[in-house]
Amino acid sequence: MVISMKLGASKDEIEHVCRRIEEFGYRVHSIRGEERVVIAAVGVGDVTHCLESLESAAGVESAVRISAPYKFVSREYKAEKSLVRVDGAALGGDELVVMAGPCSVESESQLMTTAEAVARSGARLLRGGAFKPRTSPYEFQGLEEEGLKLLAKARRQTGLAIITEVMSDGDVGLVSQYADVLQIGARNMQNFALLKALGKAGKPVMLKRGMSSTIRELLLSAEYIVSHGNPDVILCERGIRTFETATRNTMDISAVPVLQELTHLPVAVDPAHASGRRSLVPALARAAVAAGADGLMVEVHPCPEQAFSDGPQSLTLEQFADLMRDLEPYVALWRRGRARVPA
Ligand code: PEP
Ligand code: MN
Repeated sequence: MVISMKLGASKDEIEHVCRRIEEFGYRVHSIRGEERVVIAAVGVGDVTHCLESLESAAGVESAVRISAPYKFVSREYKAEKSLVRVDGAALGGDELVVMAGPCSVESESQLMTTAEAVARSGARLLRGGAFKPRTSPYEFQGLEEEGLKLLAKARRQTGLAIITEVMSDGDVGLVSQYADVLQIGARNMQNFALLKALGKAGKPVMLKRGMSSTIRELLLSAEYIVSHGNPDVILCERGIRTFETATRNTMDISAVPVLQELTHLPVAVDPAHASGRRSLVPALARAAVAAGADGLMVEVHPCPEQAFSDGPQSLTLEQFADLMRDLEPYVALWRRGRARVPA
């Protein structure tokens, strides 16, 4: 339930409403807003009776039930889009934010060369995995903390913010010391212990859609993070597994407008993991911009042929520069669209 108080409702009125919510067996989850206070209540109880009672309490403007199974991430709870701020950039606002970098952090020279090039081309965040979730245990697993240190060095040298994956709840503290955004990989979208730990991480999270997950499941995983205390969640469509084998995954482009309808959280698209092939990345990136994504994540490597992971879907530094240039007219249209739609 969401209870909106009238403008200028008194402290006593707010306290009374909170007490009534608790009497009905619900928990007051959060109270936000300064001028107009909005109270969120969660739990199980007699909703209809509780709503009727609260609607007639002094100082209450409206009391509504959130019908979606996910509450805090739903548009019913918050109609205006959320901004997730990362350094100087903000996802969900009037800038299309591009995150770029190698699949894995491999070496200082590989990372620095990539970081400098993607910064020059207009990326705002540097990506790079230090902890790698690999399908086979015999594949490169990442440089771990050494990789995180290289990412921090790249941030110092380029000013780019860092997004990197955290794979287990035990690593959230360590990765948070180095990262600006914690990436949760597709394979971990329903790692509930990890999602709960992210609630207390104090850093924005980018949650990638599981390869066989529905949009409802994605939103419920986001709800775990938000309901455990972290409102700064970015969702990422990265392709889902279908019967099609021409691409690594199938990019679910409709996920973008569907998510924009259902949630106020920013939505990013990763055309590299969605397609698995670098030749397809530019077209899918354009499609994501046209569909109204808030951000893009792209894999870039100075020499994809030598990449430890995901070489076939990584753009060269030049191809990334071309992609950014070729996206400009699409981004200009995107901006005009944003200006028309109230945030
Ligand atoms: C990645 O970003 O390199 C990655 C492992 O992505 P995903 O979790 O989407 O497969
Ligand atoms: Mn990858």
